[in-house]
Amino acid sequence: MGETVSFAEVIVDLSSRNTDRVFHYAIPPDYRDKIAVGSMVTVPFGNRHLTGYVVGFGIPPGEVRIKEIAGVIDEGPVFTPELLELARWMAENYLCSTAEAFARILSPRLQVKASRRADVLVYPALAGAEMEKALSLLGRSPKQLAVLQKAAGCPGLTKSELAAAAMTSSKTVDALLKKGLLKVSAVMPAYLQDAPGDMIKTGSLTLNQDQEAALREISASLDRGRFDVFLLHGITGSGKTEVYLRAIAAALETGRQAVALVPEISLTPQMVELFRGRFGGQVAVLHSALSGGERYQEWRRVKEGQASVVLGTRSAVFAPCPRPGLFIIDEEHEPSYKQDDHMRYHAREIALKRAQLAGAVVVLGSATPSLESFSRAVSGGPYKLLKLPRRVDERPLPRVRVIDLRQEIREGNRGIFSRPLLYALNGCLERGGQAILFLNRRGYSTVVVCRECGLVLKCPRCDISLTYHLEGRLRCHYCNHLAVLPGLCPGCGSRYIRHFGAGTQKVEEEARKIFPKARIVRMDSDSTAQKGSHQKILDAFRDGLYDILIGTQMIAKGLDLPGVTLVGVINADTALHMPDFRAAERTFQLLTQVAGRAGRGGLPGEVLIQTYSPEHYSISAAAAHDYEGFYRSEMAVRRVLGYPPFSHLARLLFTHEDEEEVRKGAEKSKELLDRLVSGRNCRVEILGPAPAPLSKIKGHFRWQLVLKGRRRENIKEIIREGLAELERDRRFKVAVNVDINPQ
Ligand code: ADP
Ligand code: ZN
Ligand code: ZN
Repeated sequence: MGETVSFAEVIVDLSSRNTDRVFHYAIPPDYRDKIAVGSMVTVPFGNRHLTGYVVGFGIPPGEVRIKEIAGVIDEGPVFTPELLELARWMAENYLCSTAEAFARILSPRLQVKASRRADVLVYPALAGAEMEKALSLLGRSPKQLAVLQKAAGCPGLTKSELAAAAMTSSKTVDALLKKGLLKVSAVMPAYLQDAPGDMIKTGSLTLNQDQEAALREISASLDRGRFDVFLLHGITGSGKTEVYLRAIAAALETGRQAVALVPEISLTPQMVELFRGRFGGQVAVLHSALSGGERYQEWRRVKEGQASVVLGTRSAVFAPCPRPGLFIIDEEHEPSYKQDDHMRYHAREIALKRAQLAGAVVVLGSATPSLESFSRAVSGGPYKLLKLPRRVDERPLPRVRVIDLRQEIREGNRGIFSRPLLYALNGCLERGGQAILFLNRRGYSTVVVCRECGLVLKCPRCDISLTYHLEGRLRCHYCNHLAVLPGLCPGCGSRYIRHFGAGTQKVEEEARKIFPKARIVRMDSDSTAQKGSHQKILDAFRDGLYDILIGTQMIAKGLDLPGVTLVGVINADTALHMPDFRAAERTFQLLTQVAGRAGRGGLPGEVLIQTYSPEHYSISAAAAHDYEGFYRSEMAVRRVLGYPPFSHLARLLFTHEDEEEVRKGAEKSKELLDRLVSGRNCRVEILGPAPAPLSKIKGHFRWQLVLKGRRRENIKEIIREGLAELERDRRFKVAVNVDINPQ
């Protein structure tokens, strides 16, 4: 390839800097075949070795002494040309360095040491009649039988997934591996590839007309191999997942790969089972709970084209598919798609950009689309709207009643449960039905308040309200600071300081008192701290071992619990009163999702929403299952206040250990930005500075500036210039973090 190939242009990861510089390194002869554009290397830099990314080849200018590349990480390039381009776009759009973008795309960091090939997926070692025989011989060991049946039905689960699916421990799986009835492999063994089994069964549903129509449009775009975006607006229980699965099959048929993203909470073993049941060993699962080694294995399988279906959470959007043809984002409105520290990317935005670069199709799915997405899918917007307005099998949507808690108080009921909810619970239990009681946020209303002076007890380090737990203990949910409930108010000495309102524990306590015979279980991050216990509780509830499930939003999303006929929302206002312009949208989304949990089986469902603001449109529209009504009301509000989607926001977050320093830093930045704005005469508004909603975290004070403007370009330019100027200022010691369109 000639002399030019002896020098590589390398972007070195200098994690401290905001800017990029390309450095030249000589390529030692041994590495000449191994290094390509997109390779990850280690290079000497100063007296250290750092990570670098090869972005090109060329002759170094001038007579600087050129050092040699010290090592190559991974075989071949770690970035496809599309991902290299994506990194440049991220640097430009999230105002970070390309090196940072590279690191984020590979995040979780490529596990250098994990390059040993370990086979991770479990398959039955037999098929057909031999399998039948093996199963019949296992009669006396029900656990092993269950595992083998699962493995036959869903070939290609990992060991722990298989154990969980068969409700046993991985010891049972090991026993079967030892007996030779199961085997591990990286890809589906040939003898299973045309074995029918459950794999066909799960794919044999007949689509209804709406699903059929949606699939037809998506498939047509896939066949054309063109960048297209669909918004699949389907009510809860309308069968969106089946459309995703068929669309993935269609993408595979065109010889390309598919990436499906789900929110963290939806990535359950059932979801994995569903995908593996349909696509077997072609599925790679990527999420943050995997160990570094496992993650690397899956990453390699994707990169080498062995796994053409990726199922994962947020960061799986960076999956290194050689030729991605389809990106699916389920529950596209979920805030968990936004990365919340360092580089604050949004997985939806990344998927859209990748699809544009690769000529792929994007399917955004939701029962309650974000206003940003829905507004692009109506009135001639660039997205195509696909609707699934009915539940499968014409199951009715549950009846929703709004209960005015003010009325209850006026009539002397100060309890957690309104009388209509008590009545409904009673009826539900008598009929042998199951109920879910939902409280928006764990601990949100277990703040400790002095009823005399109104003082709220807060964490001394984080400025977050402390939460009351059993045994008089208080806890900060950010830094885990623990305190003891004081006997007297530290502000006024009153005795009337107590935890106020209801948390999930309190709801559980009350429910047990009122319904002593009911079998009650609570699910929140306290009761599910142990890995896997979340799933155990849900399985037991689904199997009918409990009558009432009490929980936080953890139980609101994506669960299919056919026995549930009653859903009670203890207090809808907790979401409504958050300090966020999306509070109404979040309230509507939460209520819709919670309501969607009722009546998914054969029985009709009922939903009761308790609130002090029954007239608020987010609550009345959710009760009427009226997304479009909510959309119109909320768009009117956003238009008047100039919030997204009518504008773009950016947040500059300033942090420092010294409060005075942060305040001064934020004020100085405000002056600087104001000057830049008036100099350019562009329409960008700068709000603040103000202490951030969480004004102190782990000993660091936080202030913020919010920029608001119609054009994202303008905001970015102002920030870019402002940051450059601050970086040149040696006296400016405050850390600044940029968040474009914060969630
Ligand atoms: P959504 O994600 O839209 O809330 P799901 O995809 O969870 O809905 O579907 C709800 C249930 O309906 C699932 O149990 C699914 O297997 C089933 N289902 C989906 N499509 C069909 C169909 N065409 N016929 C019968 N059942 C279906
Ligand atoms: Zn007091
Ligand atoms: Zn704290």
